[in-house]
Order: sequence, then C-alpha cells, then structure tokens
Amino acid sequence: MPAVRDSAGASFLHEGILRRQSARESAARTYARALPIVPVRARGLTIEGADGRRYLDCLSGAGTLALGHNHPVVLEAIRKVLDSGAPLNVLDLATPVKDAFTTELFQTLPPELADRARVQFCGPGGTDAVEAAFKLVRAATGHTGMLAFTGAHHGMTDTALEASALACDMRVARLPYPQDYRCPFGVGGARGSELAARWTESVLDDPESGSPLPAGMILEPVQGEGGVIPAPDAWMRRMREITAARSIPLIADEVQTGVGRTGAFWAVDHSGVAPDVMVLSKAIGGSLPLAVVVYRDDLDIGEPGARTGTFRGNQLAMAAGTATLAYVRENRLAERAAALGSRMVVQLRELAREFPVIGEVRGRGLMIGVEFVDLEGDSEPIGDGTGVFGLAPVGAGAATDSGRSGAADAAASRGLGPVEDVRRQAAGLGLPPGPRPPAPELAAAVQRECLRRGLIVELGGRHASVVRLLPPLTITDEQAAAVLDRLSDAVKTVAQRHARGDETHQQRHRTSRHGVRVERAG
Ligand code: PLP
Repeated sequence: MPAVRDSAGASFLHEGILRRQSARESAARTYARALPIVPVRARGLTIEGADGRRYLDCLSGAGTLALGHNHPVVLEAIRKVLDSGAPLNVLDLATPVKDAFTTELFQTLPPELADRARVQFCGPGGTDAVEAAFKLVRAATGHTGMLAFTGAHHGMTDTALEASALACDMRVARLPYPQDYRCPFGVGGARGSELAARWTESVLDDPESGSPLPAGMILEPVQGEGGVIPAPDAWMRRMREITAARSIPLIADEVQTGVGRTGAFWAVDHSGVAPDVMVLSKAIGGSLPLAVVVYRDDLDIGEPGARTGTFRGNQLAMAAGTATLAYVRENRLAERAAALGSRMVVQLRELAREFPVIGEVRGRGLMIGVEFVDLEGDSEPIGDGTGVFGLAPVGAGAATDSGRSGAADAAASRGLGPVEDVRRQAAGLGLPPGPRPPAPELAAAVQRECLRRGLIVELGGRHASVVRLLPPLTITDEQAAAVLDRLSDAVKTVAQRHARGDETHQQRHRTSRHGVRVERAG
C-alpha cells in the first residue's frame, strides 16, 4: 500500500487545489477527472501527491516520459543549458543544442530514411507535427485527400482530427485497420489483415471508390488511443508496397510509439518498413514539448514559411530530448521494453484466464492494453450474415458472393434467424465465440480501484474499455511486479463485485475517447 502522510495541512492543500481546479478549469479537462491527485514530486515511476500519497505512474504523461519522471540525465541536460546562458527560444535559428539533437535523432532513424532525411521543427505538440506532415505531402503531391484508418488518433487540431477516427471524414478516406479481437471481417489473424490490405488496394484502384488520388497515407504502427492494437508486420509491409507502387507518401505517426516504447527504437523497425515521413513528439522532448516531422529529401519542396509556428526552437526540450534518445539507445532500453513487456503480457493473460471480464490482453513492448468485456452481453457473432465475411475462419472456406458465409447461407435456407443460427453454426464447427461487448464501466472501475491502491493507469480504446499501461522504459522488475500486483488486486475486486451484481450496468453509457462525451482522458 502507498505511504500515507496524513497531516491535516497536506489534506487541506490537496482538497483545496482540486476544488479550485474543478471550479476554474475548462470542462475540456480529462485526465484530472479520473485521476483526482495533486502531484508535487516525482521520480522515475513514482509520483507523490500533495496529500502525501505515493503512486506508481503507468500513464507517464501519456507516454511522454520514456525515462520516467525527472531522470538524472534529463535534469542534467536541462541544467547545462540553463547554466550555459544559451537563449531558451530561438525560433528556427541554428544552435549547438539543436545540432546535437538532430545528430542524435538521425542516428536512430531507419537507415533508408536517415540517409536522405530532412527534419522540420514545428509547433510543440504531436498534432502540430501531423498538420505539418499533411501540408508537406499535399505540397509535394499536389493532391489533398488523405488515407487514414479506423480507430486512429492523430491529434485534436482540425486537420489531425479529420484523420482521427472520432471525426466526420471530410478529405479523408477511412480504411480498415487490422485487428484480431474485433476483426471487422470476423476472421482475425493473417487472413484478417490480408483482407484489410486488399480493401485498401481496392479503394485505391477502383476509379469509382469515391476516393480521389490521395496526398498520403497516415498510420500508427500500434494504435494507442484506439486501444493498444499493434499492426501486424506483414500488413505494415503491405501498406509500404501498396503506397510505394502508387507513389503515395506513407506517413508513420510515431508520436506515441517512438523512442523504444514498443520494443524497437521506432515501431516501424519491427517490420523493416522505411516510411517516407515520420511524425514524432511526446518522448522525443524528454518530457518537454517538442515535435518534428522527418521526411525524405525529395518531398522537401515547401516554400520557406510553410508549416511554421512560433515555438519551434525550445532549447530545453531539445537538450532533454537529446539526453533521452541517447540514453535509450546506449542502454538498449527498447530491447528491455520488448523483454519485460512480453513477460508482463504473459502474466496478464494468466490473470485473464482467472477473470473472464478481461476479454483480451495485447500489446507490444511496454505499450500494453487490457480490454474489459461485458459477460452479460451476447458474444459478437463471428459472422452475422449481413455482409461480413464471417464464420469461415482461415482455411475453412471463403465467403460467398453475397458476402455471407456459407454457413450463414445454409442457415438462412433452413429458415433460422441469421445471428442465432450463425452462433449455433460456429459452436457446431468448434469455433471460439466472438468477443463479448466492451465494458467501459468495468474498465473505469478498475482504473478507480488501481488509484485506490496507488497505481495510475490510463483508459483507451474505441469504447474506453481498455486499461492501458505505459510505464517508463526504466521500470525495474520489482516495480513491474508491484504494478501487476496492484492491477491484479483491482481486477479481482471489480470482478467479484461484478459477479455479485454490484458493478451495475446502470451507468453504462457509450463512451468515446478524448473526453468528447465522457469524463476521461485522451
Ligand atoms: N498521434 C498519436 C499517435 C497520438 O497518440 C497523439 C496523442 O495522443 C497525437 C498524435 C497528438 O499528440 P498531441 O496530443 O501532443 O497533440
């Protein structure tokens, strides 16, 4: 249990600050609602609140803290700039600090890109880098449309939001992102991701698909806000082939996945794909705001002044970022994230076997998601006879021309309701049932129970039903064990309450990410 320093003064301070925050800050605040804490000190994985409580922080500033809070190399780098008398913001003028950052960054890039890379320092948020990348490829190709994926999150400014899955698409064609658990084609695995790739090809090659020639394709190698969904490496390579064959610039959004998080320095490294453009932010600033676009030099045809913003010269962020990139590279923290992340996923899957309210555990490196499901809801049918490819698993027969599975057609000919019958057919064929509906209220209850036990976790996913872990890459084995202990205990409490019927379905509400309709972070 976290240490509690229960002085009345600390408690008043804590409560007063929270009360004033809720009275004075915008309704748009999100993290603060689910996590009513007042951090006053932090080091590594640990945050201490104004009330004296200590928390293990697996939110890590939404993934900005690759080395955890206040890592000594980051603090030293910041102090060095402060003590040197260097100017703190210099727009896009050249400085030794920026020169060192660029050198360190280029060392880590996929070699094919590094050899011909240009970097654009843009506004300080990930969304600024996305905006800049879109402007870049639009200028380079002369086209305006973009290709983006279901479940995507690229930021909250207009154009980035347009490419994110929350928005109504305007100039964006939405393509299926492959996923096993809730595969849009009902098959998952290699076949599901191949079907997703073929869909993409057909949209691009069908002159009447309604998608004009796009300026670029943007993808997350692991969808973070979308619920921790890693793209299969084979699908990543297919996207590279498909875009290269049609001269469509491929933009990898590594804002959340970069700097070792997924078990490779950049998540595209897992597949060996060299994108044409990479958008980077969060961890590259070593906890301070910094965002860049890196791209192949032949795309660099923008006019001076294109894609600009005032805050492009934050020297402290560049110094903190250089220290972070170098530390991750020199200490092989990506490999550490891969090994520890795999072990954590294995242990969480054991937990899932014990508590079926966990529908799936997935992740890559130290980007881990635990999806909660509603055991009282019906399983999603593997195919519902209404146009999904459905019932036929890999190698068990293809969908018919009507888009229904053979089993669904057979069922219909026997006069059975399609959903009910497809379920029976699936059972008859020994197929596993599809996933249960998402349970955002259980995920929120687990988040609350974690907080009570001194563990900070994030929620995400299409229905806010995924508990997300983004611990710093420096987390020790002992700390990881403590995180899993607290999480397991929280899941046990929530599952038991749920089994007793205390965790009600009354508050069930369709939630969306980014606090648009619910009080949650994003
Ligand atoms: N791209 C991805 C993949 C993200 O996860 C995010 C933020 O979570 C963004 C872009 C936007 O970054 P920012 O919130 O810094 O604007």
